Amino acid sequence: MAQLPYNPENPPQDPPTGADRVLWVIAIRLYQEHVGTDGMCLAPTCRQQANLWPCESYNVARAGLLFAVREAVIPAPVEPWHPVTRIRRLDSSSH
Ligand SMILES: [Zn+2]
Repeated sequence: MAQLPYNPENPPQDPPTGADRVLWVIAIRLYQEHVGTDGMCLAPTCRQQANLWPCESYNVARAGLLFAVREAVIPAPVEPWHPVTRIRRLDSSSH
């Protein structure tokens, strides 16, 4: 698993190191606007339409935050060997 440079349950107002700053600022504003309570979204645009939460904008905001840090994600350590190369083909082992 890759490690995110921020807490996805409580993303910070300021972009993490290495994040796309413009995208982060847009996404965090959307994220903070589309707050849910009792299964309903409290953002004015969603309240007009009685949208359930998590709404589409909330999901877009979370995706935007993730995309903003795509360059800053710490990759998982590489396995020294790939498990697939250790599997013998079944058809070559018969007979
Ligand atoms: Zn909403």
